[in-house]
Amino acid sequence: MKGYDPKKIERKWQTEWEKRGVFKAKEKAKSSKRYVLEMFPYPSGKIHMGHVRNYTIGDAIARFLRMKGYEVLHPMGWDAFGLPAENAAIKQGIHPARWTYRNIEQMREQLRALGFSYDWDRELATCDEEYYRWNQWIFLQMLRRGVAYRRSALVNWCPHDETVLANEQVIEGKCWRCGTQVVQREIPSWFLRITDYAQRLLDDLEKLKGKWPERVVAQQRNWIGRSQGALLKFLVGETPVEVFTTRPDTVFGATFVVLAPEHPLTLRLAEEGGKEEEVKEFLEKVKRLSTRERSTLRDKEGVFLGVYAVNPATGREIPVWTANYVLYEYGTGAIMCVPAHDQRDWEFAKKYDLPVIPVVKPYQGAWDFERGAYEGRGRLVNSGDFNGMDSEEAKEKITLWLKDKGLGEPKTTYRLKDWNVSRQRYWGTPIPVVYCDRCGVVPVPEESLPVKLPLGVEFSGRGNPLGSSEEFVNTTCPKCGAPAKRETDTMDTFFDSSWYFLRYCDPKNEQEAFSKESAHYWMPVDIYVGGIEHAVLHLLYSRFFQKFFKDIGLVEEDEPFEKLITQGMVLKKWVSVGRLLEALGLTEESGVEELKSKLSELA
Ligand SMILES: [Zn+2]
Ligand SMILES: [Zn+2]
Repeated sequence: MKGYDPKKIERKWQTEWEKRGVFKAKEKAKSSKRYVLEMFPYPSGKIHMGHVRNYTIGDAIARFLRMKGYEVLHPMGWDAFGLPAENAAIKQGIHPARWTYRNIEQMREQLRALGFSYDWDRELATCDEEYYRWNQWIFLQMLRRGVAYRRSALVNWCPHDETVLANEQVIEGKCWRCGTQVVQREIPSWFLRITDYAQRLLDDLEKLKGKWPERVVAQQRNWIGRSQGALLKFLVGETPVEVFTTRPDTVFGATFVVLAPEHPLTLRLAEEGGKEEEVKEFLEKVKRLSTRERSTLRDKEGVFLGVYAVNPATGREIPVWTANYVLYEYGTGAIMCVPAHDQRDWEFAKKYDLPVIPVVKPYQGAWDFERGAYEGRGRLVNSGDFNGMDSEEAKEKITLWLKDKGLGEPKTTYRLKDWNVSRQRYWGTPIPVVYCDRCGVVPVPEESLPVKLPLGVEFSGRGNPLGSSEEFVNTTCPKCGAPAKRETDTMDTFFDSSWYFLRYCDPKNEQEAFSKESAHYWMPVDIYVGGIEHAVLHLLYSRFFQKFFKDIGLVEEDEPFEKLITQGMVLKKWVSVGRLLEALGLTEESGVEELKSKLSELA
């Protein structure tokens, strides 16, 4: 035999595998099943080396388990909705569906040539009507149970194109298309109440210990961000301003209160205080900053509202301000400021000459409050009856004391926010609701699903293409039959990827998203392989969906992914791949064609 001719030999065996259906997964005894999954790709058009490595790891595991006698489910599909297809439509005039399915063709060929042991019968693309109708069905289940709801939310808005922009479409504060300064604007949006699941998502991380990389578990814990504290009331006349604090032990040192600019009370109080003009001007300025910019601001700026609030502990009046570094999305959107014991407050107090009153004295040594805030533990001073108490102990004691006065209560909060799933774009799953003048928000009946994307749509880059489709927008109310308008928002594509692993268990089902039986047979995914960059969003959303499905009786397991392998971790053991790429002058982003040509150069 003369050498190894991959083209000849591999193609021969790949054809043979396919003919015999050797990788088709069948439901047998539960104990013999293994579900091996790699995060499905976005069909950008070409497989890159990052994919190849990821899929090779999964494939090696799947083959190994098959050889050990397990019945292995190892499917592949496409995370196919999203922005790039729509951008291609705007720039090249090619329909997103055509662009996407063409890319899928190309990538499927490349994956086949690599000889991975997939059960191709289970292939799915999230932009298939047979798939996204179940997105819509799931959304309706959530809506019925109050897990999906509508409220207004801040978005990036280009005033020139009159369109909402994704964070990645905002480049240095300007619109990626026309360069106009982007502003923040409030529009009605659909949310999923993931915060209702915060404690369960946190508690069940315990079950993943030792099975998931520690780093991922830690990132999720952080992202959920549970904090124990108190909700305190600062009265402005009769109006209570509620603040959340994790340091109720320092309340005697609160020398001012700050409201987020968007807080509904900000303008009202400014009117009372005769500072309306100044505050309005300030709000305009803040609107030009994104949330991210505001949370990392070096230059903290604020305006005095002209009114005073009563510190619930001291009974003294302290000034009320608004400032750019306080976000409405966090806590109650208002904070009590203790400049002696919080560095951000200290900086603000120094800038505007507000009083600094120390209330915690370090156990060791002295602290110079002229140089900064003391954020550590110590003994209470300037704190009335609580003087001399340990600051940790005082947290609960002071909270309960204020509770007796009707001015506070213990409170647990989470950093995790409800998930805004509304996107003002075409290439996604239409949100299945209708607006009727008489009946209000009406869910599309399940038997009328899917709400399909209309084909004859213009992609001008202005506004939401769905909004300009008369055929799509105009409909009749499912309840009363009167003319009504369809919701034109589509779903965040993370919705699609939050349950695709369940659809693989039963991909041809036309009656249900998946049958309980097949989900029970194949789930959980035994080994999930993917990038560390998905540590929070995708991996957290999937856990949330799994818990929701469990609540409505569709699945039995609490957690979708038993064992998680992230590339970041595997990389260490696969140094040789990295070295090989380096030696060839390639990177992970290099295409297969480039690899082929480099290899043939060597031969
Ligand atoms: Zn623009
Ligand atoms: Zn109606």
